[in-house]
Amino acid sequence: MKVSIIITSLLMLIGCSVQSEVDATDTPLIVNDKAKSAITKSVWNHGSADCDTNQQPTYDIYQHNVNSYILRQNKCLNFEAPFIYVLVGVQTILVLDTGALEEPEFSLYSAIEDMLGQELLEQKQLLVAHTHGHSDHHQGDASFDGHSNVTLIHPSLGAVRKYFNFDNWPNDQQTIDLGKRKLTIIPTPGHHEQAITIYDQQTKWLMTGDTLYPGYVYVKDWQAYRQSIARLAKFANTNEVTAIMGTHIESKNESMSLYPVGTTYQPNEAKLDLNVQYLHQLNAKLKAMDEPKEIKFDKFMIKPLSVFQQMLSTVAGWFSD
Ligand SMILES: [Zn+2]
Ligand SMILES: [Zn+2]
Repeated sequence: MKVSIIITSLLMLIGCSVQSEVDATDTPLIVNDKAKSAITKSVWNHGSADCDTNQQPTYDIYQHNVNSYILRQNKCLNFEAPFIYVLVGVQTILVLDTGALEEPEFSLYSAIEDMLGQELLEQKQLLVAHTHGHSDHHQGDASFDGHSNVTLIHPSLGAVRKYFNFDNWPNDQQTIDLGKRKLTIIPTPGHHEQAITIYDQQTKWLMTGDTLYPGYVYVKDWQAYRQSIARLAKFANTNEVTAIMGTHIESKNESMSLYPVGTTYQPNEAKLDLNVQYLHQLNAKLKAMDEPKEIKFDKFMIKPLSVFQQMLSTVAGWFSD
């Protein structure tokens, strides 16, 4: 087992075992999220009570439209079961995150090739980017090695800033064009120092990675997180956002509680997308707070890391390459 995995596991345990279920005596903030989901898939493969007998495929694939896909990795293969976004433009295909499963056993490249077809894949450029640098989001990077049409942005702050030309990180935004499909790249450090959020002008999804998702969001740098959420809320005031699309599901459906960390069976999990109102209400709550403090919503929990946890997170980062 890699040192980084041991440290990261320790961090997760410390970070989340403090309170992995929402206390019934605390009242979470409830957002009226009765609006129709932004995606038509409401039930994802969510692991098994007995993973030894799990027959589900490595990737659960959702095709949103002719050129937008979301993949979820099998929870029995890694409890993180992260989501991966594949957006196809006229010239370039964006692969956002490569997941928690290591090569060569679970090739993400091969899965995308099966999904899109070899011909299409070879006709276009592939841009592989990451929502942030935590190890459950870049383990599949090696599967893209050796393909001449691939540009992979190394999951480090320096590489991210350089590729997207951020001169004034985290206060500037950049736009890239996949070919008749523009994306806005917004720096959102806080959960992780190099976190970015990507807005797709076609689906109008705001892809937030682990910065905001239906689950347990731990925050390493509170002030940076506060400012990142404020930037996203401002962006959402002037751009139509159909959904906040994160990279995990850890909360239960309509029960205002989270699954314990490490769960490999989530039979009643929440939907993936969050209404943009969650973003606005989180921003209002963060603005009104003087000190870092746990915030509970009905679909997610925001928790500041202690100094010790921040230190562990930094050490884990040293070993995550
Ligand atoms: Zn993360
Ligand atoms: Zn993650």
